[in-house]
Amino acid sequence: MALKKDSNSLHGEQEKSQNEDASLLELKNLENKKEIESQPLEVSKGNGNENGFLDFGFNQSILNSLRNKGYKNPTPIQKAAIPELMLGRDLLGQAQTGTGKTAAFALPLIQKLADNKELNAKVLVMTPTRELATQVAESFKSYSSESSNFKTVAIYGGTDYRNQISALKRKVDVVVGTPGRIMDHIRQGTFKTKDINCLVLDEADEMLNMGFLEDIEWIIDQLPENKQMVLFSATMPNEIRNIAKKYLNDPAEILIKSIKKETQLISQKFIYIQRHHKLDALKRILEINNEGVIIFVRTKLLTTSIAEALENSGHTVAVLNGDIPQNQRENTVDRLKKGFINILVATDVAARGLDVERIKLVVNYDFPFDKETYTHRIGRTGRAGRSGEAILFVNQREKHFLRNLENSTRTKIEEINIPSNKIINEKRMEKLIENVNESSLAIDENEDNKALIIDVLDNLKEKYSMDDSNIAMAAINLVIGNKSFFVNEDDSWIHKQNNTDRNRSNRNINNRMRNSNRRNNYQNDSFETYKFNFGKFDGVRVANIISSICNSTNINGRSIGKIQIFNDYSLVDLPRDLHRETKNKLKKIKVRN
Ligand code: AMP
Repeated sequence: MALKKDSNSLHGEQEKSQNEDASLLELKNLENKKEIESQPLEVSKGNGNENGFLDFGFNQSILNSLRNKGYKNPTPIQKAAIPELMLGRDLLGQAQTGTGKTAAFALPLIQKLADNKELNAKVLVMTPTRELATQVAESFKSYSSESSNFKTVAIYGGTDYRNQISALKRKVDVVVGTPGRIMDHIRQGTFKTKDINCLVLDEADEMLNMGFLEDIEWIIDQLPENKQMVLFSATMPNEIRNIAKKYLNDPAEILIKSIKKETQLISQKFIYIQRHHKLDALKRILEINNEGVIIFVRTKLLTTSIAEALENSGHTVAVLNGDIPQNQRENTVDRLKKGFINILVATDVAARGLDVERIKLVVNYDFPFDKETYTHRIGRTGRAGRSGEAILFVNQREKHFLRNLENSTRTKIEEINIPSNKIINEKRMEKLIENVNESSLAIDENEDNKALIIDVLDNLKEKYSMDDSNIAMAAINLVIGNKSFFVNEDDSWIHKQNNTDRNRSNRNINNRMRNSNRRNNYQNDSFETYKFNFGKFDGVRVANIISSICNSTNINGRSIGKIQIFNDYSLVDLPRDLHRETKNKLKKIKVRN
């Protein structure tokens, strides 16, 4: 098990495959070379009653389960892979999670098992992690839910052997497992492999990264010679090609050449941040978006300390790391899916393959070790055609890793600022107004509550002579509670940092522009920030600043950018390259005398 690979590390990473360029899905088939445009999954759900699965030759039970799941049309990878697998061919597929690759191999294999009932045949699927094993097993179960007497078992480490042994003793059609536990069962004689007539290696590159190559080869040696083989991998490094050459027999090759299509629904951002400000920045980000968030950190210890800190700030948080027993992990994922918890703090290995549709934001609290880790992390959001956001924390030392990451993923990761008090307070205000409005709409839905509310209103009016507006104000006050509603902690470090970072970032962008002659789209590039010596203590408001600037100079109100007012100074974004005369006028500006 020596294969802990670090050749893909972002520390000076080289481009691995020239194939990762165009956004095309290509079926390489000697006599039948097709090119199919890759599409987001949403499109494939369809609107009408069409059923694009009819032509594959699936039996009625499979079609029924697809109808139950609401699948109308196959995804591109399914269109390309299913006919090949139905013919019994081996298959080498390059695809990420989120493309529908599980159904691409599960559906034809369920059909094949149904066709060969009398042979007592079995399918073995190997996955790098227990999370992915459970997920793939769940997919097989749901796609076979209408097929009678069809059994799928998941076997993975971290759980009791006994249940797995008794499940393996009974009739089983599909076994999904992680390499270590599969080996254990084969060695103990609790998993008989003589009837395996199909082997799937799912996320093969991940298994390689985790050092499973020797285990995989040992397992393959225990299986019957004559079997169908399917290998799916998100990337195609040489090691995977070698495995394919060694074990696959004239495979059909399906390549999604770019990770672009799958990640383009995810808006990728980064924040320059000093290490000691990370937790504070995280809390501020969660003020803006705290429903369905995964935070990735490097160590188990950090998962718990961050979760505790967030819990103290009033969030519903759970931890996912290697120390958490398997049943508890499954329970956590389930609670996340149902919305009982909103935030998950996880290590990379523990969160691999996690498929929770409501994840809207991924925070890379610690910089990922390599491009694959980054791609997997951000792929936890933007599931099944939904959009998502990914934020990466970058410190001074990690700056050049960011450039490597942008180059190797061929993505522009956009810089954003840490939310200031002003932004957070605006958001809190907006939420309060929204909540009150939603609550007013909800009154009509519950007749009992409505009667009670009218009763309370009558009482207040009669007993305390309160009018409608008094009552409304008191009710809102009750919602706000005793704690101070607005954040007022010192956030000057954010402004200082944002300004230095913006200058640095502008410099970088200018350098990059010189280098590549590319058009940059940095939003604030046309602005410069000016500092004025008046602030909250002088009673200054945004409107005062705008009117003073417009009245004393020829600057148009609409061309004034962001205005931030602090206790004793204000920062105003104004158009870059102002005339010297205008700048002199700005120096003499007076606000409220
Ligand atoms: P996967 O790439 O296998 O992890 O699948 C990603 C998600 O797409 C899962 O939630 C699947 O249930 C869903 N999915 C797979 N195939 C289809 C399809 N043809 N139509 C709609 N959704 C699908």
